Amino acid sequence: MQKINRVAIVGGTHGNEFTGAFLVKKFEYFPDLIKKFNFEILTILGNPKAFKAGRRYIDKDLNRRFLSENLQNTTLASYEDMRAKEIAEILGDNNQAAVDVIVDLHSTTANMGLSIILGNQHPFLLKLSAYLSAINPLVKVCHTIPEEGSNFLRSLSELGFVIEVGPVAQGVLNADLFQKTEQLIYTILDYLERYNHGDIPEINNPLTLYKFMSFVDYPRNENGEIQAMIHPDIQYQDYEPLNPGDPLFLTLDGRAIAYEGTSTVYPIFINEAAYYEKGIAMLFTAKQLLSISPA
Ligand SMILES: [Zn+2]
Repeated sequence: MQKINRVAIVGGTHGNEFTGAFLVKKFEYFPDLIKKFNFEILTILGNPKAFKAGRRYIDKDLNRRFLSENLQNTTLASYEDMRAKEIAEILGDNNQAAVDVIVDLHSTTANMGLSIILGNQHPFLLKLSAYLSAINPLVKVCHTIPEEGSNFLRSLSELGFVIEVGPVAQGVLNADLFQKTEQLIYTILDYLERYNHGDIPEINNPLTLYKFMSFVDYPRNENGEIQAMIHPDIQYQDYEPLNPGDPLFLTLDGRAIAYEGTSTVYPIFINEAAYYEKGIAMLFTAKQLLSISPA
């Protein structure tokens, strides 16, 4: 792999996820913080109009507008479709100076700590993730949805990934999580710099990877209305094992609904506020131990 020449830090892809949006603002107010590295760093506020309005998006979810055929489709002209095309123009492969790495900053109402969300298992990303989770126990690593035909912003680069931090409410700045995310970004930038020097740090072996299995929706009636909430036993229990028979939901009349699968799973994004409209109560993942080949 070649040297890393350009890195993009994107925040506020969802306008009401303030941690990333204000980190981008901070780096723009105080550019010296990210000037010392041996590569160029671009900062981008993903969805400025939604950020101003304090909303996730204006017309459509920006982070689902990056499918390459949609980016080519001139009839798609919503605010987020246009913004996705602008961002792809700046960061994407068609540009001579395409970025080598994209760090897309998000926050979640789920108890995800500092989660690295990978869209592929590129060896470079696995090594970086193994290093980050080895030095910081708050860091968890997930591989969510297969990258082929991905509509996520991070998919504009092979070395694109998401940092999800939480729990934090939408439209809220939490200084503790803000500082932890900021430190994580500096650790990542230091790692990239060391990579350019041919000196990447020792890696933790094996890497614990939470691999996407399925989306789980809320129980609903025939009209699509939610009939149960996340069971209190699993609220904020992201990354904890859920065993067959464990309570999953609590109906409005107080009855527990158990997990009926046959294997232990590790739910993540439990009770993410933005996923109610997507019909997602949580994601089930499988916990895997991946051995990482030495540098
Ligand atoms: Zn987000």
